[in-house]
Amino acid sequence: RPIPLIAGNWKMNGVTAALAEAEALATLVATHGVARGGEVALCPPATLLMAMRERLGRSGIATGGQDCHARASGAHTGDISAAMLKDAGARFVIVGHSERRADHGETDEAVREKAAAAVATDLIPIVCVGETESQRLSGEAVRVVERQLDGSIPDGVPTEGIVIAYEPVWAIGTGLTPTLADIAEMHEAIRRRLVERFGEGGHSVRILYGGSLKPGNAREILAVDNVDGGLVGGASLLAKDFFAIISAL
Ligand code: 13P
Repeated sequence: RPIPLIAGNWKMNGVTAALAEAEALATLVATHGVARGGEVALCPPATLLMAMRERLGRSGIATGGQDCHARASGAHTGDISAAMLKDAGARFVIVGHSERRADHGETDEAVREKAAAAVATDLIPIVCVGETESQRLSGEAVRVVERQLDGSIPDGVPTEGIVIAYEPVWAIGTGLTPTLADIAEMHEAIRRRLVERFGEGGHSVRILYGGSLKPGNAREILAVDNVDGGLVGGASLLAKDFFAIISAL
């Protein structure tokens, strides 16, 4: 089994004062450790990356960006390159989150280019996929996710160097989660697709679950086959909640 990863996505939340939570998390992790040798990462708004890296110190907690541009540099006002994230101490970058697909019209092709830029910069992309509620209701969920995987993952990537996050759109920020059987079915389908494409290496890609992951449901969800960790939104903002999820690994 791959080394599990729990990543927190702060989204557009957090100003300097919020770094106290990152510091509190670092203390908890330094004191109690992380179950199953798992990895932990926090992905704050880019404005906080450098200061957060400093506050996390030697706790072993990694940082990540929430998006990057496909190009290395140039005339792209408002955008951030993978190299800039790396320079700010990041190890990961989330790409193709459903909020970016919806708010910024990001296509699978755009996501694939961002993921390739991340890999080329020696960052680990966390590539997000997931169906909408209507796609789930019409029985298309697995087909939709397979299509997103095919389109959003670049060729020739090292399989330990990319992470997939399955986040059903209807489960994000709603308090709703799929049944454990539905999570197992989807993660198995994702694993199968990765193995079809990358051979044995497909087994070393980490597949995270995301969407209303909370201290109260983390243990059962993280124990599902082919769930190699989680991508946590709301519950990553407070150190005690996020640490409870980490401890459920
Ligand atoms: P919530 O945990 O707030 O549902 O968000 C999930 C998510 O989108 C993480 O990227």
